[in-house]
Amino acid sequence: MLQISVIIPVFNEEESLPELSNWISRVMEEHGFSYEIIFVNDGSTDGSWKMIAKLSQINPNVKGISFTRNYGKSAALDMGFSKAKGKVVITMDADLQDSPEEIPDLYDMIVKDGYDIVSGWKKKRFDPITKTIPSRFFNFITRMISGIHLNDFNCGLKAYDQKVVKNIHIYGEMHRYIPLIAKWSGFSKIGEKVVEHRARKYGETKFGIERFLNGFLDLISVSFVNRYRKKPMHFFGTLGSVSFLAGFFITCWLIGQKIFGLYKGLQVREITDQPLFFLALVALIVGMQLFLTGFLAEMMTSHSSRKTDYNIEQELNFND
Ligand code: UDP
Ligand code: MG
Repeated sequence: MLQISVIIPVFNEEESLPELSNWISRVMEEHGFSYEIIFVNDGSTDGSWKMIAKLSQINPNVKGISFTRNYGKSAALDMGFSKAKGKVVITMDADLQDSPEEIPDLYDMIVKDGYDIVSGWKKKRFDPITKTIPSRFFNFITRMISGIHLNDFNCGLKAYDQKVVKNIHIYGEMHRYIPLIAKWSGFSKIGEKVVEHRARKYGETKFGIERFLNGFLDLISVSFVNRYRKKPMHFFGTLGSVSFLAGFFITCWLIGQKIFGLYKGLQVREITDQPLFFLALVALIVGMQLFLTGFLAEMMTSHSSRKTDYNIEQELNFND
């Protein structure tokens, strides 16, 4: 069995690839690791795929896989995870911001110290302040929600035991929350290692300011999906019941009041003249709708078998 698979998502990183590939190979050979480097070309529009093809000819340990279009970093990682053969799987960005020199220590932490995941921590960071400050805030919120004590959830450099990557599924933009997904899948030995971080040498960042809003929405959905994916009725049904019961009791109250008034010979308002009546009506309808949504969600859950949402165009050096 191979010792290490390195997975690298690539979206328009042509200039960095030769340097990165050579550097990783050098580190691997110095330490005598058996390895593979899997470049996942995520719909690059520059010469990245050509470059990967060239590198894969020079070095048979370099493998490449290319999507039909840009599906995002999460899809690229997910693809890499499904292809990886190494005992330890390492992910790193293609932009040379992460250093391959960290690989041997990460490998040891998985193999010798028995971690399921080791996440890099860019303690000294070379990114603009517009990125570092919101990122601190995000890490804080994510720590609160997940109870996982990591300082830097979204570091591209991470190491995994193979059993982790074969058991988790990453989609959308969930790459920011892999440690959460892993923990919820039962891999809770999660470690952290301070890693060297460098400024981007070539090209530019692929994520703009929208990363923060998207990241926040993803955090909400990742926690929601984790809790209710297999039982959506628990969520919608609870809300639906509360709303429906509120409507029901208000209606009972209105009718009771009316009957009581008539019985006592008091002057009573028409039920439809009272604001509460409309409130009750809305609550009943909303409650019903939530129930129906819950049922639909349950049906979708029981029919969802398709796991991935991307298509492969080409593969290199996968001889099976
Ligand atoms: N990436 C990708 N698909 C995308 C966007 C990014 O595969 O749609 C890759 C990109 O090529 C890089 C890594 O994800 O290898 C991290 O991207 P980037 O360096 O732009 O993110 P940042 O460091 O700014 O968070
Ligand atoms: Mg980067």
